[in-house]
Amino acid sequence: MEMLIIPARRDNYIYALRDPESDRVAVIDPAEAGPVIREVERHGWQIGVVLNTHHHDDHIAGDLQIKSRYRCPVVGATSDRARMPEVDRGVEPGDHFQFGSEMIEVIGTPGHTRSHLSFYFPQTGVVFCGDTLFSLGCGRLFEGTAEQMWASLLRLRALPSETQVCCAHEYTLANARFALTLEPENPALLARIEHAQRQRDHGAPTVPTTIAEECATNPFLRADEPSMAQVLGMTGASPARIFAELRHRKDHF
Ligand code: ZN
Ligand code: FE
Repeated sequence: MEMLIIPARRDNYIYALRDPESDRVAVIDPAEAGPVIREVERHGWQIGVVLNTHHHDDHIAGDLQIKSRYRCPVVGATSDRARMPEVDRGVEPGDHFQFGSEMIEVIGTPGHTRSHLSFYFPQTGVVFCGDTLFSLGCGRLFEGTAEQMWASLLRLRALPSETQVCCAHEYTLANARFALTLEPENPALLARIEHAQRQRDHGAPTVPTTIAEECATNPFLRADEPSMAQVLGMTGASPARIFAELRHRKDHF
């Protein structure tokens, strides 16, 4: 699969993925249509399907324009179709659907919103997780509970460690400042921040990241590590409670 990372709005990333075997192109979370159409057509690609991870405007606002231009279906959560008017093909957690030569797996990742989905491409080894898992962070809990979000993060963490994680926002350096308050001496974290800073200095995206990198550095994926409980003074507390405390502190950081 070939991938384009298209920056949009203030800090959104829209992804376009092309299956060279079938020439099919999927676009994930079009925050706006203009930059997607420009970039995709510059490469001579035709969009075949749009995937929406959740209903927020900065993930679906480009749906209608893309759909009318390419006559392509829009895929999104069945249970949230009322809030995603352009979805013509509802899917649910656990569903599989064919995209070109690859079978895509729908992973339920509620927490940021109640019906948030992630789209996993097992052959390519890439997951589009919207606003669930971010580089060094995770999405805010707008509709779900900490327990739900922690379970969602565990589902993503269970993917093969080399899986590329395509998040929908450029938040790495902002998240890094919070992560550093918890683990100021984590060598993997320090190395990543230095690398991310260089990438941003050159205007390059810090995504995709990988599950392995996040496991080593992202505090929200490490809520079940005894060292994290110790840092928070919560030794013995459940991972979900540790996660809730991390999320709470980040919200007020
Ligand atoms: Zn969102
Ligand atoms: Fe968003």
